[in-house]
Amino acid sequence: MPRRLFVTTALPYANGSFHIGHIMEYIQADIWVRFQRMQGNEVHFVCADDAHGAPIMLKAESERITPQQLVARIAAERPQYLDGFHVSFDHWHSTDSPENVELSQDIYRKLRAAGLISTRTIEQFYDPVKGMFLPDRYIKGECPNCGAKDQYGDSCEVCGAVYAPTELKNPYSTITGATPVMKQSEHYFFSLSDPRCVEFLKGWALDGRLQPEVANKAREWLEGTTADDGTKTGGLADWDISRDAPYFGIPIPDAPGKYFYVWLDAPVGYLASLKANCAKRGLDFASFVAPDADVEQVHFIGKDIIYFHTLFWPAMLKFAGYKVPDRVNVHGFITVSGEKMSKSRGTGLSPLRYLELGMNPEWLRYYLAAKLNARVEDIDFNPEDFVARVNSDLVGKLVNIASRCAGFLAKRFDGRLAAIDHGAHEGFARPWAGPEAVAALYEQREFGKALREIMQFADAVNQFVDAEKPWDLAKDPARAAELHRCCSTALRAFRDLVLLLAPVLPAMAGRVQAFMNLPSLDWAALAEPLPEGHRLEAYQHLMTRVDPKQLDALFDSPAAAAPAATAAPTASKGSGGKSAAAAAAPPAAEGTISIDEFAKVDLRIARIVAAETVDGSDKLLRLTLDAGEGRMRTVFSGIRTWHAPEQLTGRLTVMVANLAPRKMKFGLSEGMVLAASFPDDGGGVFLLDPQDGAQPGMKVR
Ligand SMILES: [Zn+2]
Repeated sequence: MPRRLFVTTALPYANGSFHIGHIMEYIQADIWVRFQRMQGNEVHFVCADDAHGAPIMLKAESERITPQQLVARIAAERPQYLDGFHVSFDHWHSTDSPENVELSQDIYRKLRAAGLISTRTIEQFYDPVKGMFLPDRYIKGECPNCGAKDQYGDSCEVCGAVYAPTELKNPYSTITGATPVMKQSEHYFFSLSDPRCVEFLKGWALDGRLQPEVANKAREWLEGTTADDGTKTGGLADWDISRDAPYFGIPIPDAPGKYFYVWLDAPVGYLASLKANCAKRGLDFASFVAPDADVEQVHFIGKDIIYFHTLFWPAMLKFAGYKVPDRVNVHGFITVSGEKMSKSRGTGLSPLRYLELGMNPEWLRYYLAAKLNARVEDIDFNPEDFVARVNSDLVGKLVNIASRCAGFLAKRFDGRLAAIDHGAHEGFARPWAGPEAVAALYEQREFGKALREIMQFADAVNQFVDAEKPWDLAKDPARAAELHRCCSTALRAFRDLVLLLAPVLPAMAGRVQAFMNLPSLDWAALAEPLPEGHRLEAYQHLMTRVDPKQLDALFDSPAAAAPAATAAPTASKGSGGKSAAAAAAPPAAEGTISIDEFAKVDLRIARIVAAETVDGSDKLLRLTLDAGEGRMRTVFSGIRTWHAPEQLTGRLTVMVANLAPRKMKFGLSEGMVLAASFPDDGGGVFLLDPQDGAQPGMKVR
């Protein structure tokens, strides 16, 4: 009986482009999904943009567009990545959709009817200038423990102290720079501490469906921890699910001015996307989400969102009368040469640049697959290892078999296979675990182990070709039958290798299917060797080697790779969505620039929220700038000689917003402020001021 699978990846937040972490997750899930499809299982693989919440609202505001326009712009970028890396979603939706409004409100009403919604008044920081309650990430101030400046409202990056935002000294809103005030508001809570929820979650999370390390984490959260002195802390707390207007989100029924916290409606987006997919395909959505539905619901997520997916999400579904997840497959993060990725800083491996350089997406799919396993481990992208592994395995072992044998078959034997050499086939079966074991490894997401088995098979076939030496056999007309048998045997094995690798290398499998005239790429075909007389088309080259220079280009210039997030919107104004870097600058008279060239410089009004001297430098000031982006930027500027920090705080100035971030001895500088001076600075340096009325975020043009 084929299985029915509902598979998702985590919903990416729609305020920026994909980074390599997203692509890794999609590739992991896609390999699993393609394997399931090859087994004849019915798969519904969906995802969606996570559209709601304060960051998107504020970012859209700073760009003077609606949140919907911002989300639409980001969504328009998605296909080039997904198609580019052969990720085969059946449907891509948005949490800002009618299906999600209906489902989120339905789940809420059912939780309320079950007595699991309560309200209470809480006191929170409020930005009196902006007129909104401040999420913790928009509050900064001085650490109550060590006094470090510009620390977030939850913990100090300098001394590691953890505290509440209300404990910060001299707190300020990162949105307006205003001093926040305490204000009360009624909030809605999902009663996760209710004994029914706790009992259900202990059963659900600890019954073996989660990876052991994930189950351990869930147990800690469910049971709390006991300190050495016997005091117990933790256990489940009720979950605050409401936010006050202004908020970009889904209204809470019967609660004017209240919206669902984005983390309530984000996972519901899985169901919304499935529902839209069902409508598209004429399937009955109810048959997927009924509590006893004969469907396996499988989520692929990163280790940073385990809490939401192993506590809130299953409990919400359970007590709203929906089917609960069968598995939550958690993966670790990806590092590049051992360093943690930072998407906000735009460094590391840009998936878009990878594609723009014309690098083969299947190299990356294979390399990541070779590193992935079923545990919650970080994996590392190492450029030298990447070149070595792809060139050795895919080109040196796999493609090599076909390229050494297919030509002889076409030229000498009309492309037709000789009779099956059972002895040779049995020889190949010995040094590796076989298709069933590989299938089990794919099923368990042990992709690295699966590829090692497959490559042992490839080694055996290459040893066979090396021993038979078809290039020698071809010189002696009397040995034509041996040549025919050797090439046929190797190509039959090559077909098996390609089927085994098809979940990882779908595009190559498609080309091999055409060249070898394969009726299907189903897993079941592995049981049937290609028959005598089966005819192959002329061999076409299947894959090139990685040129290390391509890796140099990929990593060489973080500056060039950095603006991936900003390049697309800038370019979409007129160059048909191509990246700004790719568009050739029109010729200009010497010493002048075109208006298009000038427009590439993104000049913005910024407020200097803080200005501080830098230990170890008598030239630099560290400026904290608010350019209306919903986050602060740090810029180091060599103006200390002419400006006292206390005179700068609160002033507006002009900032180059799209300058590539620069790593300095003292930290990362994320832009530049503009000042007037003579070349030798004689006469002083004068920071530019806009006229009164200008606001942070305005463009200078
Ligand atoms: Zn501190």
